[in-house]
Amino acid sequence: MESTSKSKGKDKNGKVYLVGAGPGDLGLVTLHAKECIESADVIVYDHLANPEILGWARDETEIIYAGKEPGEQSLSQHEINSLLIDKAREGKEVVRLKGGDPFVFGRGAEEAAAIVDAGIEFEVVPGITSAIAGPAYAGIPVTHRAENSHVIFFTGHEDPSKTESAIDYAALAKLGGTQVMLMGVERLGSITREMLNHGVREDLPVALVRWATTGRQETLTGTVGDIAERAIAGGFEAPAVAVFGNVVALRENLNWYENRSLSGKRIVVTRTRKQASALSNKLRALGAQVVELPTIRIEPPTDLREFAELVQDAHIYDWIVFTSANGVEAFFEIFFKLYDDAREIGGARIAAIGPATAQRVKDFHFHVDLQPEEFVAEAIVKEFRKQGGIENLRILLVRAEKARDVLPKELSALGAILDEGLAYRTAPETRDTTGARRQLANEGADLITFTSSSTVENFLELGLPWPKGMQVASIGPITSKTARDHGLKIDIEARRHDIDGLVETIRDFFSKKGANE
Ligand code: SAH
Repeated sequence: MESTSKSKGKDKNGKVYLVGAGPGDLGLVTLHAKECIESADVIVYDHLANPEILGWARDETEIIYAGKEPGEQSLSQHEINSLLIDKAREGKEVVRLKGGDPFVFGRGAEEAAAIVDAGIEFEVVPGITSAIAGPAYAGIPVTHRAENSHVIFFTGHEDPSKTESAIDYAALAKLGGTQVMLMGVERLGSITREMLNHGVREDLPVALVRWATTGRQETLTGTVGDIAERAIAGGFEAPAVAVFGNVVALRENLNWYENRSLSGKRIVVTRTRKQASALSNKLRALGAQVVELPTIRIEPPTDLREFAELVQDAHIYDWIVFTSANGVEAFFEIFFKLYDDAREIGGARIAAIGPATAQRVKDFHFHVDLQPEEFVAEAIVKEFRKQGGIENLRILLVRAEKARDVLPKELSALGAILDEGLAYRTAPETRDTTGARRQLANEGADLITFTSSSTVENFLELGLPWPKGMQVASIGPITSKTARDHGLKIDIEARRHDIDGLVETIRDFFSKKGANE
């Protein structure tokens, strides 16, 4: 994006970006789309644009849902056009986020025309359309050298004001090849009847792919003769793409996406937005549909100055002890603001509790001198004892405000001269920009993951109704205890108490269950 668009003179118009959000999978968003979202002042998004994408937006970005979910209050097309134009006239950088590709059956053309008519600059960022990605994720290549030499996209949803069908079924029947239909699953009965009336063979393979490329993708196959009936029998609803053609049969060998170990499982991730991605991505890679529901936010400590002074004196300590990745980040952020040379840390040795904490230290190219085997605070005390004690050694303990105080007590009891650096504090996450809470309430989930005691407490504090049948996975014994103390039953506890360990245990849990079913 141009940097000039950030200098918002009152009389300077902003710009509208018509951006394709792709079909749903977060990995199928273009880099340019991501950049636009990251720098937008206003985002107007659609029902079919995956709301998780909004997590990339800045906190200040105004986010507007333009809807069209059945039964929901939504903006009319005219209102949407005016909204885009008005915001741009305020000098804002507006991102109009649409599912798939903005110029494929999404009324993007109409919006673009209105924007141009208003004399406002615009840009199109193409996206991966569901017409291609839907079949691909169902294991259906839209072309195959032996099967077809053309592909047709058509809409099954007609402008209701049209008196005659705009779809030329005679031409479609004659052309054959692969035909991909967007919209109109609810009209499949009349559409396939028209096809048959115009000479399409009854046994032509058809696949319907709904919520393609997301964790809740489902595919239904059949023939032109029976697909409408099957869809009704199976309660198969929009949004779905329909693929007509011989290529559908290739799915039998090529169905790669729906066979993964967590396919069809909806899993809630409760970490902070910033930390969630490692866990979310791993779960998604195994096929899960992830609902990111951050309950807490990392904020600077109440007394940042005091912490900064301790960081400045880091070199006077014998040991610096980190208890969390957040603490490591907060420490080094200040450290490198104060110093431009890593050696300023002097002779201080570094202890880190847990592999994620140690990894964060290593990311900053510092050696971890002590990392307890067990990933609980008590274990670090034991390690120090093993090292011959810490009597009269100066220790800086970097931690969160209001953390458990067993560690400082024990370290002092061992004779250490202890300073506590309160590096950050956690605050409840009050925004629900991605609509995750609404989604959890409407659609439920199979599993919720807790990666620390605070995620348990903060989740429960939200007071959301517990979805029916939602099971609980915990990262380790301390988190499990907190959950049990609050009356939850733990279904899965990670064998190794880190993110990889948690993901592995979840995968094994569901694959064993699948095998027994
Ligand atoms: N511009 C969009 C299409 C908008 S029309 C694109 O390029 O994909 C809306 C229709 O798109 C839906 O009725 C459905 O047929 C299809 N669609 C969009 N996303 C989909 C998805 N994730 N899975 C299945 N169909 C989808």
